[in-house]
Amino acid sequence: MTTRYDADRSAVAELLADQPAYRVGQVWDGLYRRLLDPGDMTDVPNALRQRLAHELPPALQPGVETVSDGGNTVKWLWRLADGTGVETVLMHYGDRTTVCVSSQAGCAMGCAFCATGQAGFERNLSIGEIVEQVVRAARRALPRRLSNVVFMGMGEPLANFERVWAAIGRLHHDLGLSARHLTVSTIGMGHGIDRLAGADLPVNLAVSLHAANDALRDRLVPLNRRYPLAALNAACERYVAATRRRLSFEWALIDATNDRPSDAAELAELARPLRAHVNLIPLNPTPGYATPGTPPAGVAAFCRRLRALGITTTVRRNRGTGIDAACGQLAAGPRRGDQGRTVRLSPARMASTSTSPRRTTPPGHTTDRTSSPSTTAPGPTTEAPPDAVRLAAR
Ligand code: SF4
Repeated sequence: MTTRYDADRSAVAELLADQPAYRVGQVWDGLYRRLLDPGDMTDVPNALRQRLAHELPPALQPGVETVSDGGNTVKWLWRLADGTGVETVLMHYGDRTTVCVSSQAGCAMGCAFCATGQAGFERNLSIGEIVEQVVRAARRALPRRLSNVVFMGMGEPLANFERVWAAIGRLHHDLGLSARHLTVSTIGMGHGIDRLAGADLPVNLAVSLHAANDALRDRLVPLNRRYPLAALNAACERYVAATRRRLSFEWALIDATNDRPSDAAELAELARPLRAHVNLIPLNPTPGYATPGTPPAGVAAFCRRLRALGITTTVRRNRGTGIDAACGQLAAGPRRGDQGRTVRLSPARMASTSTSPRRTTPPGHTTDRTSSPSTTAPGPTTEAPPDAVRLAAR
């Protein structure tokens, strides 16, 4: 059965073939602009509401919701129809609200320091499974408007390109989010970067680098053996030349591994010609990787060194570390003993938390100013642009 956000507009029209033509727009608007469950669309007849609720089921089943950072970070573990689990994280900042979504259940890339990679790959997510994560987060964020979406959760988005791109189209065209507020990240899939360069929406690109020499990157990021730095750099050059947009390099700082002065110098050599923005992320702990993240003083020193080398650099503010919701910690399951407030969501509670949103403005109709890798100027801040927050530690 097609889930409600897997159904495209023509599928909804087919479902409503026995209804007046205007119903299609009414239902589509209910799903995307008003973020409603079909059962709550009070502007359609009750019998049709019940039918739609049955024929357009949700893709995300009630799971576990965990809240931390004084309510400013919310992590969900969702169960999908086939029993697989995925995680989504919502983060409120002063002037913006960002959701980090998963694009795959698990991940095949096997990055050494990442809990998702340590758990292995299950499958690609569907368009609807991706879009519904955003819709659920947008509802939960109310009365705040969801402003940013980052594809930095579980999985490598460019390994599921077709569905990710179709989902991005829905987020932009139907949910109303600005493409400039959507960020796709990659661990370095060169051919995916080329496809992104030719795509028709100006989304942001974040490349998770973590090492700027092949020997170290081969160890940290196995994909580097297929796309070594020369090939990745060439893809980045083509991307910048084709789009005229600035990209960002993500760098998870690992103690005595990639935080030495020589690492900063190598990173600067790669970033400078591309005019890339660098986001530093102190590595978060995961059960399968013993080396800790760089201590705060080392992070600050690395940041200063990069800036002295002329590289625009920020340090990402960590969110949700205590609930395994931070960079590199998503693994679709409770693991370390929750330090936040956890609620196991029953279907009834899911319904009560997800219905009757009080939205008056579509999520993309926001006046929030949002930094992006293409527009962020060098500055003294030590916080990364919110649209560059990465939860799978790429
Ligand atoms: S860092 Fe990203 S690409 Fe690497 S294993 Fe984790 S989710 Fe996959």
